[in-house]
Amino acid sequence: MKKTYGLNEIREMFLSFFEEKDHLRLPSFPLVPKDDPSLLLINSGMAPMKVWFTGEMEPPRKRVCTCQKCIRTVDIDNVGKTSRHGTYFEMLGNFSFGDYFKKEAIAWCWEFLTERMGLDPALLYPSVYLDDDEAFGIWVNDIGISPERIAKLGRDDNFWDHGSGPCGPCSEVYYDRGPESGCGDANCAPGCDCDRFIEIWNNVFTQYDNDGANNYTELSQKNIDTGLGLERLACVSQGVSNMFEVDTMMNIIKKISLISGIEYKRDDKSDVSIRVITDHIRSATMMICDGVLPSNEGRGYVLRRLLRRASRHGHLLGITSAFLCDVCKTVIEENKTAYPDLVEKAEYINRVIHVEEENFGKTIEAGTAKLAGLIAEYRERGEKTFSGADAFRLYDTYGFPLDLTIEMLSEQGFEVDAPSFDEHMLAQRDRARKAREALGDLAWASVDLGLDSAPTVFTDCEETTGNVLAIVAQDELCSAINEGSVGVIVLDKTPFYAESGGQSADNGTIISEGGGVFEVRDVQSKGGKSLHHGKMLRGVMGVGDLVTAKIDTVRRSAIKRAHTATHLLHEALHAVIGEHAQQAGSLVEPDKLRFDFTHFSALSQEELADIECRVNDAILDGLEVNVSTMPMSQARELGAMALFGEKYGDIVRVVRIDDGYSTELCGGTHLDNTAKAGAFSIGSEFSVASGVRRIEATTGKATLKTLNTARGHLSKLARVVKAGAPDEIAEKLEQNMASLRELRTKLDAALTKESRGEAARMLTATQDIGGLKVIGTVFEDTDVDIDKLRQIEDILRDMEAGIVAVLAAVKGDKITIMAACGKEAVSKGVKAGELIREITKLCGGSGGGKPEFAMGGGKDPKKLYEAMAAVEGFVKSKTEERA
Ligand code: ATP
Ligand code: MG
Repeated sequence: MKKTYGLNEIREMFLSFFEEKDHLRLPSFPLVPKDDPSLLLINSGMAPMKVWFTGEMEPPRKRVCTCQKCIRTVDIDNVGKTSRHGTYFEMLGNFSFGDYFKKEAIAWCWEFLTERMGLDPALLYPSVYLDDDEAFGIWVNDIGISPERIAKLGRDDNFWDHGSGPCGPCSEVYYDRGPESGCGDANCAPGCDCDRFIEIWNNVFTQYDNDGANNYTELSQKNIDTGLGLERLACVSQGVSNMFEVDTMMNIIKKISLISGIEYKRDDKSDVSIRVITDHIRSATMMICDGVLPSNEGRGYVLRRLLRRASRHGHLLGITSAFLCDVCKTVIEENKTAYPDLVEKAEYINRVIHVEEENFGKTIEAGTAKLAGLIAEYRERGEKTFSGADAFRLYDTYGFPLDLTIEMLSEQGFEVDAPSFDEHMLAQRDRARKAREALGDLAWASVDLGLDSAPTVFTDCEETTGNVLAIVAQDELCSAINEGSVGVIVLDKTPFYAESGGQSADNGTIISEGGGVFEVRDVQSKGGKSLHHGKMLRGVMGVGDLVTAKIDTVRRSAIKRAHTATHLLHEALHAVIGEHAQQAGSLVEPDKLRFDFTHFSALSQEELADIECRVNDAILDGLEVNVSTMPMSQARELGAMALFGEKYGDIVRVVRIDDGYSTELCGGTHLDNTAKAGAFSIGSEFSVASGVRRIEATTGKATLKTLNTARGHLSKLARVVKAGAPDEIAEKLEQNMASLRELRTKLDAALTKESRGEAARMLTATQDIGGLKVIGTVFEDTDVDIDKLRQIEDILRDMEAGIVAVLAAVKGDKITIMAACGKEAVSKGVKAGELIREITKLCGGSGGGKPEFAMGGGKDPKKLYEAMAAVEGFVKSKTEERA
């Protein structure tokens, strides 16, 4: 019987096989490409090795093998439907950089598949590129495959070319899974789109260079790049019908079945959903682990889309609550041996998924109801195409992205007018832009300066002499600006830093030879030109004038302190909470900074203290700060974190603290030594968006100011509580509070004693009605305390079971009346609640309460005595009723 292997086992077999053939085994590169703006996510084994293929950098060895994590969103529509496509998969690969070529590559490919894996050679079909007689010859003569079993395929399938650079023919290996897996077509053969002959391995022979105009020349360094789908190989090895049914993925399927209560292989529709979820949750887990966070752009959007799609397929299976975060645990469990960092980041990954799922759940609920209503209306009208306006409304009001709307509608047989949706989108952007421009200040920036595009030279010093190139006043290009006018001055050279990269602009003055003074309040950059916004304080200034531009150095120094401290903070965050804390925004002002970073939970007091301490240590160490420009590749070698959008060969500005303590690409202005930052203090830490936290902090004088203010508060407090020194305040306060408590107790006792006396006096003057003791007393325009009256009422009820005491207090027009009835009175039917209702009504008010005690108010003091007189009648009638 044929031996089968588990997926993890196959990965190891492949890597050690090629190690035996002298290859250097490297771990998978992260899914997020480094320094490659042409690619959103790594999609093949060779993608992260481009620089080794082009010769731009030396590979660590001429033979390398990897198992690379790959994401291919182009295959998203195939997922779940074909048996062989996932958006996430692992690609095994062996690579030669100018070392071995076709002969060895083909021989080892065959040896691994047939001898190591034990696949039946009769089921394996090679393919070659039409013209590649060399590869064809190797398959026939060296390996011994009969020529009719080798498919000759065209450019689309078997020539690897990217428009320019290294390229070449491919040779693939297909596995025949038998007619029952196929389309049934008589011509079905390797290269057919169905699931019978599946491509498992692609060997690319990069032997040509494309000059960009499809002129091919033979390369001196010939390379081998191969890709063998790990899941596909496991699938044929294990003889299962689908790549999602291999050992490691079956557990994810089982988990989804368990949660949904729907068995796998029950029906095609739910099977597709189960496979889509299995695939997407794998992709999402791996992407988040490699630092991607859901967002509306770029790879963040890819992730968001995958999670939302998975969540929606969960809904189709009848799952109503968040479940993906649960399934992701199984993904981690199944992959932890190959990718141990999954375990380290498990909690974080889980949290990201959970938050995204919950948010999407809310969107879906509102939007789906709306969509269902719309679908019904379209059906009624017999229309099959959704208008762009409706799709846009779903987007605008419910946050339904277009692709989701399209997908949900296509399931119901509807189409969406996408071009019209785009028009709506554009119109909205246009409206937003106009609204922004109407805000005034920004209108300046939209004035066409009519200048060449040579950038204003930033001189990075305190003072520079330059020429006035253009002036804007009253929102128009002018030849001069007069005293009192606000406007913009454009110079050829400037020491002013224009706001960018979060660093605030410099302030200062521009002074002309003729004595004109322009106060600079803001500097913005547009088309490379620095626009100095401000006001003409004195005299005039004209285009062509020679001027001296001078920055406010006090402000600049404070900005530098905050900026250098920001780099130290970034470093400290990495050290304390981890590398995933990526910069998500930053604001640098004089001695004040704001730093946004990706992280999922609030930082603890300990973490914040640790971060603050690390930054202050780096300041106290007086580390040197160096700013230099260099090619991107060199910056990368120094460990500068690459930013998306940067290209090879680009000259970048690198800010380095202490030879690598921190290395960042940055265009801002910095201290030359960290010690000059002064004391660093974190003011607050909070969340600004899901997965993004913000730290606000101060440096230099701002920290001193905060400390001084706090010290001021403390000494004031010390004076107030009569503490000798601030550290005695707490003790003093505790003493004061204790004596207050003591006084309060004494006071209560005294008050109670007084009330007792009052109650006893009242009891001597009661009126006997129906065997009960009735009191009616009015306190007129006195300062009698209502709480005290209540206390007297309570005491009376305690002292005398037959008491019916009605006490009223009048202040101006306001009457408060309360009644207390003792146990005996209540048992004879005299209830305080009823009594109060009756008498307050008589003086224009209302009230109520329990049988023992009730309160109310009245508004007509003239009727109060009449009302009080009614007490007697009330008691009489109640007691007589009983008797
Ligand atoms: P197909 O035509 O089947 O989509 P491909 O030509 O796109 O495959 P390559 O780009 O040559 O594939 O990738 C190399 C290997 O990676 C393939 O032979 C296959 O084993 C695997 N592979 C490619 N795409 C996927 C996918 N979406 N899911 C799983 N494995 C894949
Ligand atoms: Mg493909």
